[in-house]
Amino acid sequence: MLITAGNPGGGTARRVLVVALLAAALAGGWYYYQQSRQETEVHQRSGLVMGTFVSLRATGAAAPAALTGSLAELERLEAIFSYSLPDSEVSRLNAAAGRGPVDVGPEMVTVLLEAQRIAELSGGAFDVTIAPVVDAWGFRPEVTEQRVPEPDELSAALALVDYRLLRVDAAAGQAELLREGMAVDLGAIAKGYAIDRVVGILQAAGITSALVDVGGNIHALGLRPTGQAWRVGLQHPRDSQQLLGVLSLTDRNIATSGDYQRFFELDGQRYHHIIDPGTGHPAQAATMVAIVADTGMEADAVSTAAFVLGAQEGLALVRRMGLEAVLYTNDGQLQVTAGLQALFEDPR
Ligand code: AMP
Ligand code: MG
Repeated sequence: MLITAGNPGGGTARRVLVVALLAAALAGGWYYYQQSRQETEVHQRSGLVMGTFVSLRATGAAAPAALTGSLAELERLEAIFSYSLPDSEVSRLNAAAGRGPVDVGPEMVTVLLEAQRIAELSGGAFDVTIAPVVDAWGFRPEVTEQRVPEPDELSAALALVDYRLLRVDAAAGQAELLREGMAVDLGAIAKGYAIDRVVGILQAAGITSALVDVGGNIHALGLRPTGQAWRVGLQHPRDSQQLLGVLSLTDRNIATSGDYQRFFELDGQRYHHIIDPGTGHPAQAATMVAIVADTGMEADAVSTAAFVLGAQEGLALVRRMGLEAVLYTNDGQLQVTAGLQALFEDPR
């Protein structure tokens, strides 16, 4: 979907925001390979939940009810993790910044603790307290006019970014932002947590073949009804008509982060939604990172972290954590980690 935000201020720059919601039928850069005839009993649901495009497909008699339950689950999670809904747990935590701890539910504790773990492991490249900077750039679905923030505004926002000033007390069921003005944004991790929940629902219903996609966070459950692995393609970051590669996956989570998912252009420069907390500017080193991990939550968070870190440090993080990745650098180099090479096809 292309939103043209016009020509504010009468300048010559044309600002274009690309929001990867419907383009996200490719959801964050994924195509699905065509279903074969044997797959006609595949049940499918799709919709816009958690601010993104969701596509769920599953096979078997239990599938229709389980898919309906899965969509309801995503809506329930949105009500907890949304940055924009005023009653969400995230909004309540943010509203209380600098004024003491707030009660949060166990799921919020789980996601915040994982966010803190990945923040530590990535040396702060992943930092959910990035929200004030994301706000300064206007990377919010409800904001139609993005802009490059003034240096003063950016440094004031950056001064509020520090995951070490987010305290989580699991035993007490509380979280706290230590400084007024701080805010958390779980946009880089909550969809991954949601994937894990949906997979749990499908498995509890006895479903053994499903493909779950929440905004480019994918779980390939079991095999396709044909008995083959699920085949998912990575969109080329600079050519939406082209595939960068196709991965064959079974019982794996994969998450993508890319600079083509949400961005605007100004004076020929691309500004996108994944921010390097070191600079407050969109991270420059990579154009696309896909991470394969044991949980959807980990895949989601690490894809964002590795995107910010770039090829060298990002792939070092992936190795340290025992994960797998596909990474495409800004200068057009494709890197595929050893454990994925046999599963990865380059269609070019
Ligand atoms: P993802 O698509 O999973 O890489 O997440 C990107 C979203 O996470 C952005 O739209 C922001 O809301 C948020 N975000 C941006 N930069 C960071 C960062 N360095 N660490 C954590 N979250 C971020
Ligand atoms: Mg992420």
